Amino acid sequence: MKIAETKQETRKIVKKWKKQGLSVGLVPTMGFLHEGHESLILKSAAENDKTVVSVFVNPMQFGKNEDLEDYPRDFERDCSICRKAGADLIFHPCPQEMYPADFFSYVNVDRITEGLCGSDRPGHFRGVCTVVSKLFHITTPDRAYFGQKDAQQLAVIKKMVQDLDFDLQVIGCPTVREADGLAKSSRNTYLSPEERKAAAVIHRTLEYAKEAISQGQRDAGELKKELVSRIEKEPLAEIDYIELVDGELLQPVKVLKKPLLIAAAVRVGKTRLIDNYFWE
Ligand code: AMP
Repeated sequence: MKIAETKQETRKIVKKWKKQGLSVGLVPTMGFLHEGHESLILKSAAENDKTVVSVFVNPMQFGKNEDLEDYPRDFERDCSICRKAGADLIFHPCPQEMYPADFFSYVNVDRITEGLCGSDRPGHFRGVCTVVSKLFHITTPDRAYFGQKDAQQLAVIKKMVQDLDFDLQVIGCPTVREADGLAKSSRNTYLSPEERKAAAVIHRTLEYAKEAISQGQRDAGELKKELVSRIEKEPLAEIDYIELVDGELLQPVKVLKKPLLIAAAVRVGKTRLIDNYFWE
């Protein structure tokens, strides 16, 4: 497995592969890898001749008062996870490599970036779309792998690829969870033991939603009320949002029908956690 810190070196390696007719999968990450990331790398390695994993904590997608400085990092460990999962190249640039001082260009996707995490985190998706566009240009993948855990991000990237004619396939991968259902996340390390226990309320509540829908619940307002009250019963949890939206453009719905996304962002202590249930 190779490690490249520059765009130039990465391009050189990928071009060589392409010349040999090899297919390339890309897994963009912010590092501090866990089994969720690993599942994406394994899938890419199974579906492509070569797999590139990018490890870059992207400053552009963090707000001023967010956790950019505290975001956990362990590149040595990331390398060993990538190697074991079958990655061929890690692209590990520094911020200046991605954003030199004279950087003025951004990628915006409208409308589906406005609700959910977009309203809580202004500029977040502009940062995501800009960095992911750059990664697509640098690594020219045939397929790119994203987790369903970040459902809005996945929908936004799919839209961006469609609207801006990127020549690649975006592949959504199922959320990998802890034994009690909590979605694996690099940010779970921020949780105290008490908070970690409390955080299970998010998935439990989404499981309730799934069950209610399978029993015939179709009233979005009624279901939302019930979901809010279930999360509010957990004293350590504070809701940022819980929304029931259509699964494509992520607009709020009144009557529940497929494809439906129930997305939640909940603060447990100081840690903001997201999770969702997708009914399709
Ligand atoms: P991050 O490093 O948090 O930016 O995540 C990098 C990629 O891994 C994104 O496409 C995430 O959606 C995906 N991912 C993060 N957590 C999980 C998880 N628990 N299961 C599956 N994919 C995940």
